[in-house]
Amino acid sequence: MARYKDGLCRLCRREGTKLFLKGDRCLSAKCAIERRAYPPGQHGQRRTKLTEYAIQLREKQKARRVYGIVERQFRNTFHNAERRKGITGEVFLQLLERRLDSALYRLGFAVNRRQARQVIGHGHILVNGKKVTIPSFVVKKGDVIEAGPKSKKLKHFTDVLERRAQLKLPSWLSISEGDLKGTVLDDPKPEDIGIPVRESMIVEFYSK
Ligand code: SF4
Repeated sequence: MARYKDGLCRLCRREGTKLFLKGDRCLSAKCAIERRAYPPGQHGQRRTKLTEYAIQLREKQKARRVYGIVERQFRNTFHNAERRKGITGEVFLQLLERRLDSALYRLGFAVNRRQARQVIGHGHILVNGKKVTIPSFVVKKGDVIEAGPKSKKLKHFTDVLERRAQLKLPSWLSISEGDLKGTVLDDPKPEDIGIPVRESMIVEFYSK
């Protein structure tokens, strides 16, 4: 699968907003958006008026970059949302949020979604007691997400426990105290998702 290998901060600068693609650095003064809040490249500081299409495209790219997925998978998720009941834009963001890599990041089991994908790919995560190695796996209400028995002893997961105090858990997830185990309580609500994206623009982009 195609992978983006360039600097992650360039993506935030391109979109002109923090996408929180790294860990603690995103909250520090070292964040590239704090220092250079204009697009990268030679013409980055040039002012241009965006067309309606360009605005929609940027919103779509922003969401795609937050979740770190390729265009084909992103579009397929959108068409999946279209087939479901509810407001397409909201359902779409819910589906993205319920991806296992995103849920793992929200549970604090990884510092960002990219690291969450790595942890899943290396077989450290169980869903309802079964190993899942697919980051795009969509979790649902009642699912239990946990680190495997051997994986719990790894430094990565002991660090997770140390970071636990700073974690702001969204209302759709819960954590068993002192354990590397999370439960999906509900579907994510719009206020839980909180990414800087206007989903209606993405709906318009794909509805052309
Ligand atoms: Fe880089 Fe994080 Fe700041 Fe984005 S939010 S520019 S990824 S440090």
